[in-house]
Amino acid sequence: MTPEEILAADAAHVWHPYAALPPAVPPYLVESAEGVRLRLADGRELVDGMSSWWAAIHGYRHPVLDAAVTDQVGRMSHVMFGGLTHAPAVELARTLVELAPEGLEHVFLADSGSVSVEVAVKMCLQYQRAVGRPQRRRLGTWRGGYHGDTFHPMSVCDPEGGMHHLWRDVLPRQVFAPMPPADHGSTPDPGYEAVLVEAVERHADELAAVIVEPVVQGTGGMRFHHPHYLRVLREVTRAHDVLLIFDEIATGFGRTGTMFAAEQAGVAPDVMCVGKALTGGYLTLAAALCTAEIARGIRSGGVLAHGPTFMGNPLACAVANASLALLRTENWATQVSRLQRGLRAGLEPLRPLPGVVDVRVLGGIGVVQLDHQVDIPAATAAAVARGVWLRPFRDLIYTMPPYVTDDADLALIAAGIGAAVTAA
Ligand SMILES: *Cc1c(COP(=O)(O)O)cnc(C)c1O
Repeated sequence: MTPEEILAADAAHVWHPYAALPPAVPPYLVESAEGVRLRLADGRELVDGMSSWWAAIHGYRHPVLDAAVTDQVGRMSHVMFGGLTHAPAVELARTLVELAPEGLEHVFLADSGSVSVEVAVKMCLQYQRAVGRPQRRRLGTWRGGYHGDTFHPMSVCDPEGGMHHLWRDVLPRQVFAPMPPADHGSTPDPGYEAVLVEAVERHADELAAVIVEPVVQGTGGMRFHHPHYLRVLREVTRAHDVLLIFDEIATGFGRTGTMFAAEQAGVAPDVMCVGKALTGGYLTLAAALCTAEIARGIRSGGVLAHGPTFMGNPLACAVANASLALLRTENWATQVSRLQRGLRAGLEPLRPLPGVVDVRVLGGIGVVQLDHQVDIPAATAAAVARGVWLRPFRDLIYTMPPYVTDDADLALIAAGIGAAVTAA
């Protein structure tokens, strides 16, 4: 097909994320990608400021990751996981347990982040039933969160940003505390701490679990809160037999400057979800990790009632193993602190631009917040004209570049964000 035919067929038949059909604005046609660059069909090259939505941390066509996939294709691309097992999945589970906060010992491999959140919730509900607390069926969270697009995860997304009004009669009604203050790097607010404790205590008898994104609320608004609130949640949930789920799907594997964001609080959840960067952006894979206590509880009541067809897909596990090994050999901590320096240097100068209300950087995440909704097609086109791929949303123009982005390309991304701000 010619590029024109591809775009025509795309408009006629293909859904894109959060889009109408045909989409209001046609997508850009990508032909290939290498390193930190996407190559468009018309020959233009764009530095990827989005890591394909937090995932492609090592860049594209990485020789080690390419080899891991090719090697695994030569053995088997997939076999069912019911009654069978294989080295790639077992090795991955063992590595995740090693890397994860203390006490998370058991790994459920799921096929996407949203499904891993579904599984995490199911673990908690089954556990509470098994230990004689079947009335605990609700979830607690704070506003401003994002946990995926399937129905239970949607029920704990921010009620306004998450378009709950569309789903008022469909979604389970969960318990929401106010949004955490955006106070990472300053001092925690004792008033907010009290509100959080009160919300959990008041609903303790009906809460199976509290679920939050630690430190960074991503798609709910790119807000960074003080890790202290995670310690507060850990204490109050433990005191009331409420389980605690950390959704590290966006924050995991070094993005915020620590391997997991939870480390900034020095606490471990009962269940943790990972996804996005897990395979270095090659294949869809996620996981829900839980404690031995939860596994014991579920066992006393039977089995964990979940089993996706493509569970533990060997190709995805093999490339995840290679990606996690690369994190170590390429020293992710040095890479991410370099991103943080480069993004601070590049984005701080945008603060005085008209319409900018905030500039914030944490680890490999840089955010420019405007006082108005971004004109997404105009902002995107302005960045593309500078050779940068960005995907703004709401009032936010932001970047989380691949860890391998060098200083010159970081400066280019910052220039692209500057152009997008001016156009937005
Ligand atoms: C992206 C994301 C999800 C959903 O993951 P999918 O793979 O898109 O289903 C859930 N939680 C958080 C925090 C995310 O960033």
